Amino acid sequence: MLGRGRSSGAPEYLSRASVMLLAAMAPRLSHVSDIWLDPEPLPKSGRALMRGKFDQLFRIEALDTGARYISLTAGRVEPRVAQGRISGVHCGGSSISSPVVIDASGSNCWLRRAMQLEESIDSPALWLERGLAAASTNAPDQHWQIGQQGWLWIKPTTSQTIWTSLSTQREATVAWPDGVRPVGRSWRDCRRWRCLQQAAGPGYFVCGDAAVQLDPATGDGFRFAIESGARAASLAAQLRRHPERSSLLEALYSDWVLQFYMSRKAALAECYANAALLWTG
Ligand SMILES: Cc1cc2nc3c(=O)[nH]c(=O)nc-3n(C[C@H](O)[C@H](O)[C@H](O)COP(=O)(O)OP(=O)(O)OC[C@H]3O[C@@H](n4cnc5c(N)ncnc54)[C@H](O)[C@@H]3O)c2cc1C
Repeated sequence: MLGRGRSSGAPEYLSRASVMLLAAMAPRLSHVSDIWLDPEPLPKSGRALMRGKFDQLFRIEALDTGARYISLTAGRVEPRVAQGRISGVHCGGSSISSPVVIDASGSNCWLRRAMQLEESIDSPALWLERGLAAASTNAPDQHWQIGQQGWLWIKPTTSQTIWTSLSTQREATVAWPDGVRPVGRSWRDCRRWRCLQQAAGPGYFVCGDAAVQLDPATGDGFRFAIESGARAASLAAQLRRHPERSSLLEALYSDWVLQFYMSRKAALAECYANAALLWTG
């Protein structure tokens, strides 16, 4: 694992499916109190966490299973290409050889930029923001409001209230319900719906946001990152045992990623059309 050890630190709400997947993959983390905003997993419900502490402890879980982590403080990472296949990376003046490289660089999209991989882009720029909120006792329990200019989602947890908003215009702000207001730092991002046409190819797999980006209304970004990473790792292990099957394994992964993207994109597009949420691009 090569990483820079950075994390957004933002609050995030894990769907029930994400919580279950994580509990199977890293059971200890379910019980670490200072990650979670809901101290106990709630039956049939999701769970909110703070990404800063979580990302750090999730990396330690990987190290405990035997992964070697190289911390990249500065300098560029470049793919090493031999005979049309990615065969490792160059970084910090040295070269690491590997039969498979998995890109999990999130919205930085390292491999797409380095190899100019083709992608489809299916939305204009969407302006996203999230943070914590203060709510008075008469504030609504949970809030979801969608209109022509975007949406606002507010979710009280046991300890804090978290919120996320989407706006189709950079400077537009969403209307807040009575009794709730944002507090402290907020995290902003600009995203488009996008998907790599081939999320796997000769010597590489791309997972998480580096392969697919939609918007937080899917409620599935975290789960897709974990699940696609696990699939990519398992297929990479198969590929090492059966290099003659590489094209098939890469095609299976690319197809799975594309199917995920198409189904979530169709559901979001329908929800936004019903709400008359307008693209301004
Ligand atoms: C406003 C907003 C709200 C969201 N809310 C939710 C939510 O409530 N629930 C949910 O499930 N999802 C949510 N998501 C989506 C979710 O955050 C992402 O889908 C998920 O974090 C993707 O994980 P990832 O591992 O692919 O990328 P990231 O979590 O972005 O991790 C990428 C990592 O790669 C590192 N990196 C990048 N470039 C390099 C490089 N060149 N070399 C080494 N390391 C590198 C970064 O430092 C980072 O640590 C939200 C997204 C946004 C923008």
